[in-house]
Amino acid sequence: MTYVLRPYQQEAVDRTVAYFRTTSEPALIVLPTGAGKSLVIAELARIAKQKILVLAHVKELVEQNAEKYCSFGLEASIFSAGLKQKSLMQQVTFASIQSLSRNIEQLNAHYSLVIIDECHRVSGDKDSQYEKVILALKAHNPQLKILGLTATPYRMGIGWVYHRHYHGFVRGDKSSPFQECIFELPLRYMIKHHYLTPPREVDAAISHYDFSALQSDSFGRYTGDDMNQLLAKNSRATKAIMQQVIEYSEQRQGIMIFAATVLHANEVYGYLPAQQAALITGDTPNAERDQIIMAFKQRKLKYLVNVSVLTTGFDAPHVDFIAILRPTESVSLYQQIVGRGLRLSEGKTDCLVIDYAGNGFDLFYPEVGSKKGDSDNVPVQVQCPGCGFANIFWGKTDSQGKVTEHFGRRCQGLLEDDDGLKEQCDYRFRFKECEACGAENDIAARQCQTCHEVMADPDDKLRAALNLKDALVLRCSGLSVNSLASNEQIIKITYYDEDGASCDEVYDFAKPAARYAFNKQFAKRTAQGQTPVEYKSAQQVIAAQLQLVAPDFVIARKSKKYGWKVADKLFDYQGNFRKANQLSR
Ligand SMILES: [Zn+2]
Ligand SMILES: [Zn+2]
Repeated sequence: MTYVLRPYQQEAVDRTVAYFRTTSEPALIVLPTGAGKSLVIAELARIAKQKILVLAHVKELVEQNAEKYCSFGLEASIFSAGLKQKSLMQQVTFASIQSLSRNIEQLNAHYSLVIIDECHRVSGDKDSQYEKVILALKAHNPQLKILGLTATPYRMGIGWVYHRHYHGFVRGDKSSPFQECIFELPLRYMIKHHYLTPPREVDAAISHYDFSALQSDSFGRYTGDDMNQLLAKNSRATKAIMQQVIEYSEQRQGIMIFAATVLHANEVYGYLPAQQAALITGDTPNAERDQIIMAFKQRKLKYLVNVSVLTTGFDAPHVDFIAILRPTESVSLYQQIVGRGLRLSEGKTDCLVIDYAGNGFDLFYPEVGSKKGDSDNVPVQVQCPGCGFANIFWGKTDSQGKVTEHFGRRCQGLLEDDDGLKEQCDYRFRFKECEACGAENDIAARQCQTCHEVMADPDDKLRAALNLKDALVLRCSGLSVNSLASNEQIIKITYYDEDGASCDEVYDFAKPAARYAFNKQFAKRTAQGQTPVEYKSAQQVIAAQLQLVAPDFVIARKSKKYGWKVADKLFDYQGNFRKANQLSR
């Protein structure tokens, strides 16, 4: 049997071949769910001249990939305890990572390529199963090529799994398990070209949950206890939501409901017609789970409730209604969930998507790669004043769509030097200055990346100042600039506390040292993202004062002669103290 690859599948294959002709650095391809990853894998396996290995983490995927390959009349080995076969005989082997890593001694041949499906699961951890297999393969072939495939190269808690993107920017750091993303196809392309069903995102008109009131960890996740407490108070909302879900489901074939916790899932499940619904959690035994999924695919069950188990690797094309009743911390996760309903299926014209958890994501948002923060934050494009790269960060816009604030820290642009060496642009939008050498560091840095001095912890400074009788700490909410009546080359900056307390600082622009000190602190931070200016006169500063970025904290000390005198200013603060205009930490 012959087969024809879709144009983008062929492109993915061509890029892989071209890339590995020049390097053995691990590479990755991003294809949305439904893009036909298994066909790309099959083609790469077919054209390979030496032994290759295709790894997956669940037996269903091993089976799917192998079936696709064999459907072209080709022969392959399968190594998977779950599939009751353990062979490495053929040129191409489809293997489960668990089975293979447990039988590592059997890997004693020269393999040219290993393909890892759902490769966002690879952590790069030295003790991981993937690492074990790769080490064993490299013992026989130091030039082993490693290719990962995934729909979502980003995982909350781990971050980006690759370092460089072929469009010229940086994601994870150099220690990421994959060095380069060599091909990526956006979800929008798939829908536009009718490879996927268009989603119909409908606003939850009725009361929905508001998880944003809860405290989240640095990855934006909430604890189960917190969610259960909040949901217990919202049992009326749950009832109303489920009534609406059932109502909308009358016109729908297959409904997937994503619940927040096991307790919540049981509550949700209780509202559904018993004969038509089932519930899958992480604790559901495998055999039972397989049975439920089978019944759902055969449409013997109409509703399937789950708690974070069916976001990847699950495929029931007839699903045409996705009800989200859980918080989703990242765009990727949101896309994964909605992706369950976008497969093409006979008679299906769209997939209804209702987000009852107010996550506020757009399906076509790019992954920003950091915590979303406030619910009204949106991805904004910020051009790097250094290299011109258009970064995507979380930020805020005004009613005209103009960016008013963004939370990016460092430019993600990738710059190439004359020797072809690629390095991340070192322009920083927010930074902590090293007190020893003046170098700019990430706001969370503990050690200076230039001189390696330990950097002062801003919280230590604040704590020390708060313990002093003659020190004043302003939680700074803004500033104003005026020139002195007696000498208009001298500016007076007044820093305001949120309670109205204030403190002044003066800079004499007639003096080069004072000009330098002012510019060092304020110039680059001016209206983050715009080309930095160098302030040459007091008048220029006064005219631009609305663009000046205020420090988050100002520490002043009492002086006998002048009253309060600014001793230290903390810009771009990150730590345990609440900042002005921030409700809580
Ligand atoms: Zn840049
Ligand atoms: Zn330093």
